[in-house]
This record gives sequence, structure tokens and C-alpha cells, in this order.
Amino acid sequence: MKVYKFGGASVKNASAVKNVYEIIKSESGPLVVVISAMGESTNLLELLVRSFSDNDDKKWEIFNAFRGYHQEIISDLFGEQGMPQGVYQLFTDLEHKLRTRPSYDYNFEYDQIICFGELISTRIVSDYLNAAGHANVWIDIRNSLKTDDTFRDAKVDWEWTDELIKEEFNFSDTNLYITQGFMGSTTANLTTTLGREGSDFTAAIIGSILEAESVSIWKDVPGILSADPKKMKDTVKIGELSYKEAVEMTHSGAKVIHPKTMQPLHNKGIPLLVKSFVLPQDPGTIIHKIDHKIELPPIFILKENQVLITLSAKDFSIISINDIDRVVNFLIGKLIKVTLMQQSAIDLNIVADASSEDLEEVFGELSEHYKIRYNTGLTLVTIRHYTEEVLDWMVKEKDIYLEQHSRLTARMLIKE
Ligand code: ASP
Ligand code: MG
Repeated sequence: MKVYKFGGASVKNASAVKNVYEIIKSESGPLVVVISAMGESTNLLELLVRSFSDNDDKKWEIFNAFRGYHQEIISDLFGEQGMPQGVYQLFTDLEHKLRTRPSYDYNFEYDQIICFGELISTRIVSDYLNAAGHANVWIDIRNSLKTDDTFRDAKVDWEWTDELIKEEFNFSDTNLYITQGFMGSTTANLTTTLGREGSDFTAAIIGSILEAESVSIWKDVPGILSADPKKMKDTVKIGELSYKEAVEMTHSGAKVIHPKTMQPLHNKGIPLLVKSFVLPQDPGTIIHKIDHKIELPPIFILKENQVLITLSAKDFSIISINDIDRVVNFLIGKLIKVTLMQQSAIDLNIVADASSEDLEEVFGELSEHYKIRYNTGLTLVTIRHYTEEVLDWMVKEKDIYLEQHSRLTARMLIKE
């Protein structure tokens, strides 16, 4: 069996859904299809959660925009005949939720509302395929993907999920299942999510448990490129990558796949394909076990909105491992991601993936021990497989705030 994952862009309107149908139709073997919320609707739902928990009057306006967007897709897909009732029940459920009072747990409320994006998109695609004569079974993934109760960043309970996924996706009654990415549920059946863009990870979880022949992620790019084409020109497509290379790239900030996707697939040796839904015949990029040496071009990864924080002890003492330990753990506790670190005798330089607003409280506490200097609005550039020419070109006419090179990877913090 295989697993296909379609992201928001691949189902953003009726013609995109029809294209997904063509891709699914051309696969004749057993298949699990994991789908994200349509288009940008998760962003819209985030606004809805905010408005719901602030109890402001924009709530219904956002809800109507959300429903209207899907209604248009439904009308385009189903025309006069209309759509089976299931999807309307979901809008009613969401409406009921919005009429209740929010609890004090924002992250909990977030997951209870954000999940409607995926529930509705999968319902629409599943019903559309069934109506077109392509039989499939819609599955509520919350019955089999079990997690702890860290809302918005839930951790998978692998043992339990393993058992339930094998039971649920047994292919005894169908060759095609359609289910949601990104979400799961707790022991008490409360909805949880795996973190933004988590649907790739869902596809990897299902693929690894069912020992899929491959997992394919269908995107609007021809595969993995040497840089984000929206940010750089002259990108080249990379035909194959090792799991390790893919983890390094995505961890540095390449948005093409979620960084958690590789581990479950690596551990079972299942190939991950990144393919274009625009050119489905193209081979795309294959991420798999590579024993031979392959030549890779320089790969650029840009991570924007970074802050450089420089701390030095107020008593002029030398930065020690205890300082590093204390500061890093403190930042982790405040959910601030450290992307790079460098120290000198007196200075501890920390690059954080945060805005200056996020850091206000943190600075208050750190200033008890340290003098603080900081710069905001920086870009962290990671270049894998760098060459001297590429480095020279990259630094030309730019202010470099920090630089770090290893054998394979160069990192630099720049202001553009
Ligand atoms: N719909 C969710 C998001 O936009 C999950 C995903 O797309 O993977 O973050
Ligand atoms: Mg999305």
C-alpha cells in the first residue's frame, strides 16, 4: 500500500480538488490519502479561535467567511445535486462550539476549533470521489491517532496508535481511505493537533505503521529545490536526498516538508517522495537510504525574523558552560527556539526565532544577571554543501552579524 498526502494548496478550489481526484484515480493499488485543510483556511480558523476566546463580535464574520469559502467549492463540485449532509453537520457543530463560552485554556480551545478545517476538507473530497464513482471510506483519524494532552503540540502515543491504525486501515472493505492530517486525540477523546503543517507527519505516522511501499507528498513545486524559488532565483531540483540531508534542511527552515516527517520513515526504510501535483508524471524528489556518495549542489535555506541576543555577565566574568545551560533552558521554558549559538570570552551570542515582543518578558528576567544587546529583523542563511564562490557571493554587500562554518554547512546571520 501507499500513502499520499495533499496539502492546503492542492485542494484550494474546485479545480484543484478535481486534479487531486485525477492523481488518486491513477493509483490502482491500496491507498491511504491524508489531506490538510483547504487553501489558507487554517489561518482563517486561527483568527476565529482568537476572536472566540476574546469573545469579540468578529467571530460570526470570520465563521461566515470560512463557511462561504467552502460553500463555493462545494457548489462548484456538486452543482445542483448538492452535497451529502455530512459536511453541513460539521458546520453546525462548529457553529454550536462558537456559541459556547471559551474555557481558560487557549491551546485546548484552539485544537477544538482548528480541526474543522481538516474534517471539512476530507469530507468534501471523500464525498466528491464517491459521487464520481470512486468508492472510498472516510476515516476520522482521531479514533486511531492517539496523543498526550499537549494541545497544539501533541506527542504521539506510538504503541496505542500502532494498534489502532492497523485495525482501522485494514483494507478489508475498500482500497482507498481518506483521512485528516495534523490532528489526533487524547485518551479522553479530546481533539489535539501536532503543530502547524503537521499533516506531513501524519502521513509518515500512517505510512510507517502500515509499512507502506512509499509515502508521497504532493506539492506545488516540482520536488525539493536547492532554494526557495520565492526567495531566490536559479534554483535547481534535487533528484534524491538521504533522510539525514532532508532532516538537516527542514530543521534549518526549509518549509517544503515538516521536519518530523523523516524519522518514522527512516526507521522503517520507507521512501518519501516529494512530487508535483501540477506535473504528476514527473519523478519529483526521492528521500531514501543512500549508501553511495552523491554530489549535491549548494542548498540555501533562509530563515527570516531572527533576533540576535548578546549577553555578557554584569560582573565581567567569563561565559561558562553554566551560563549557556541556564540561558538555553530558560529560553526553552519560555518556548523560544534557539537557532544558533556562539560564544567568546565575555559574550554569549544567541540567535532566536522570535520577535522583540516575544522577548520583552525574557529580557526583563535575563537582565538580572546579564547586560543585553540585541538586533531584530535578521535572516539566518544556511548553506549546505557550500563552496568558496558561493560564500563570497552570499556575503557581498551584506552586513554579517555572525558566521559559523562546519565541514558541510555554513551559517550566517545577515541583514538584507
Ligand atoms: N492545516 C494545517 C496547517 O495549515 C496542517 C497542515 O497543513 O499540515 O498548519
Ligand atoms: Mg496548511
